[in-house]
Amino acid sequence: MRIILIGPPGSGKGTQAKRLVKKLGILHISSGDMLREAVAQGTRLGLQAEAFMRQGALVPDSLVIDMIMARISQADCKEGFVLDGFPRTLPQAEALDTALLAAEVEINHVPLLLVPDELIITRITDRVMDPVTGKIYHLIFNPPPDQVLHRVVHRKDDALETVTNRLAKYHEQTEALIPFYERKNLLRKICGVGTIEEVENSLLTALGVA
Ligand code: AMP
Repeated sequence: MRIILIGPPGSGKGTQAKRLVKKLGILHISSGDMLREAVAQGTRLGLQAEAFMRQGALVPDSLVIDMIMARISQADCKEGFVLDGFPRTLPQAEALDTALLAAEVEINHVPLLLVPDELIITRITDRVMDPVTGKIYHLIFNPPPDQVLHRVVHRKDDALETVTNRLAKYHEQTEALIPFYERKNLLRKICGVGTIEEVENSLLTALGVA
């Protein structure tokens, strides 16, 4: 199955994508994780992307498109994938369409996680990550266990001002994907408010795999 998970930053895309991967045995491709890895490794892409990410701006389409196209053409993507964080603009969605058409494969579902902006702000500003396992926690709603608490860190771009920028970019650019995928009959609107399990159940039902 090929899935594109869309929704604002902090809507739970990463958390739900990890669960889908376990349930469906498909790959998780997160453009944000790939870019953070490139920054950490100091690659050319990482050096080009870093300043945009720090400000909560979008990394230029050309860089992200090349990165994702190279990834999805690899053999391990044949059985399916869940794309998390890509596409984020119409040119990215169009480039993806062209590549999938050439590879003669199709996207099956585009779930959209709906979460109001006010909730996004509290979710993201109290979000922490365990650098050892990569697990994401929320200091209030999903607190890290005691043995992990001392080592959790905030993502650099989860500061309030950056989150506001990221949300603005979502409304300005990424929301244009909603009518784009609606026209293709692929959009599945999911309420992203509730416990992780509640959202997961809605998602699995929408994908027809509950
Ligand atoms: P995320 O982890 O998906 O929230 O992404 C973190 C940051 O990486 C974003 O705020 C952007 O700066 C950058 N980024 C991730 N995916 C994309 C994309 N598809 N297009 C442009 N920038 C992206």
